Amino acid sequence: MASPHAKLLTRSKTPFAEAPWQQGLPSPYYKETHYRFREWLKKWVDDNLMELADEWEEIEDDAKLAKVFQLFAKEGFLLPFALGVRVPQKFVDMAGGQKLPGGVPPGEWDNFHDFILIDELARTASNGVVMGNYGGLAYGAGPIVHFASEGLQKRLLPDILTGKKRISLAITEPSAGSDVAGVSTVAKLSDDGKHYVVTGLKKWITNGIWSDFFTTAVRTSGKPGDQKGISFLVIPRSEGVRTTKMKMQSAGSGTTFVEFDEVKVPAENLIGKEGEAFKYIMWNFLHERETIIYVALRFCRVCIEDATNHANRRQVFGKKLIEQPVVRYNLANMARQTEALQAWTEAIVYQHSKMTTNQANILLGGNTALLKAHAAIVVSDIAREAGYLMGGTGLTKGGIAARIERIYREVNGLATPGGSVAVMLDAGVRQAIKTVGLDPSKL
Ligand SMILES: Cc1cc2nc3c(=O)[nH]c(=O)nc-3n(C[C@H](O)[C@H](O)[C@H](O)COP(=O)(O)OP(=O)(O)OC[C@H]3O[C@@H](n4cnc5c(N)ncnc54)[C@H](O)[C@@H]3O)c2cc1C
Repeated sequence: MASPHAKLLTRSKTPFAEAPWQQGLPSPYYKETHYRFREWLKKWVDDNLMELADEWEEIEDDAKLAKVFQLFAKEGFLLPFALGVRVPQKFVDMAGGQKLPGGVPPGEWDNFHDFILIDELARTASNGVVMGNYGGLAYGAGPIVHFASEGLQKRLLPDILTGKKRISLAITEPSAGSDVAGVSTVAKLSDDGKHYVVTGLKKWITNGIWSDFFTTAVRTSGKPGDQKGISFLVIPRSEGVRTTKMKMQSAGSGTTFVEFDEVKVPAENLIGKEGEAFKYIMWNFLHERETIIYVALRFCRVCIEDATNHANRRQVFGKKLIEQPVVRYNLANMARQTEALQAWTEAIVYQHSKMTTNQANILLGGNTALLKAHAAIVVSDIAREAGYLMGGTGLTKGGIAARIERIYREVNGLATPGGSVAVMLDAGVRQAIKTVGLDPSKL
């Protein structure tokens, strides 16, 4: 009945702390390569990141943070970070034949490896550790991987995929967040057509402070509010680029304010076609939203694990907390929401794995937006309930509630970036109305 590979896994003994497949229950989704990868990665995270996560937000020394990023680079993480759900051989070659983490053969890498990758990193309960190392590369390199010319890919990706250079995604502006079409950063092509001159502001750019390149949404024509006329330019850190680190509620991912003041950018740094980037931005969001869902899901399980362990230890009114029916009722509410989130997430991961990128964007874009909103709401509820269950300890930094306290401060960092809850709920319904009944084979 159980998967023959389940014996490969070490697992928490706390109920609901692991996904059903990780507890040894049968699942149609996971193959031997997923079990092996999960086990390798769990140990790697335990050995390299767990302790670090407790101090991550306090680290001011950029050289120390850079060393951790280089650890990821050495272990081959940057390829799957940048590529997401598939790792074609041409990109492995651009990375100098780099091996994937855990020795997964590139041809086997799929959506479930991608899910496991983020799931295990998120066990640190630190969005700073995850997004501080993953966010800029994953979301900033995506448009180059999917839409740039072979020439631009060959020029930029070898250094990016091996960690010699870092990159981030710069779309949001002080006056254009949810409304991406409001972008007003201007890129004007020079008379000889050799370069663009870029002027504008970008806000909340993950990893921006450490970035050598910014995959930047600029306006090459039209006016703020027009979807047409937005283009993607890769802007190197150069004269006229100024970055300032922002102080955030949950720190550690290098959130940055970026100013472009008449920056000269080679015309060959244009990604895809001029004026077409609104579509590229929307496509890029699909994977970004999936990864935020995975973080939220693991955070739910971490909260349940640490709160349940506390309830089994803590004596109040002469009894362990777990012996109180109200406490079990609260844990049950956390568990049912998490298990439902797991099932919906696995269904979407599976559906995506069977589709082309075009099909996935059209047919899964709406449901993924709904799921992203749902995940943010669920993790917010669970972090709050788990915090209550810990009493005063839940408000205390460090110690047995450290992960719950951190996650509680992270929940809006999952609700807002990549599309806020209200915007995702609306987008989910609008997309469903547009795509209902479409035949995947005709897309
Ligand atoms: C930690 C962090 C990291 C980020 N990283 C990046 C990054 O790497 N690159 C990047 O480009 N951007 C990044 N962002 C920006 C992020 O994408 C935006 O914050 C997000 O899109 C929301 O935009 P806004 O903050 O301007 O809010 P607004 O768009 O001003 O929205 C404010 C509120 O109004 C609500 N709202 C908006 N429209 C509607 C509507 N039609 N109906 C009902 N309610 C609505 C929203 O839900 C939200 O609650 C990051 C943000 C954060 C906080």
